Amino acid sequence: MKIYQHPRMRDISIGDEVYSYRQQLFARVEEVFPAAVCVKLGILSATSPLELQISPQLWRADDIENLSVCRYCGARNDLRTETGTGIPFRICNRCCVVPPKRHAREVGAWW
Ligand SMILES: [Zn+2]
Repeated sequence: MKIYQHPRMRDISIGDEVYSYRQQLFARVEEVFPAAVCVKLGILSATSPLELQISPQLWRADDIENLSVCRYCGARNDLRTETGTGIPFRICNRCCVVPPKRHAREVGAWW
């Protein structure tokens, strides 16, 4: 059986920051698979004394968003952070078309 790479996995590399819609958590990619990434989460143990444990997890490509690249074109240069969504999506300057009325709020410009 041939394993096909999920389209979203093309732009993901080790060390990228990803957001999981399912878990509503952020994590850094430790390993990349054809249709999932391995991340390590710090979780508190349920037993006392409370300890922070590192828990490896697999996140499916369908459930994640790569925050280290432009969310529209996948570029890694000239990135800025989109505001107002609650999730720090990155967007490159080329794809960043902000309506003029929002310039003052978004980039602090005075026109
Ligand atoms: Zn872009």
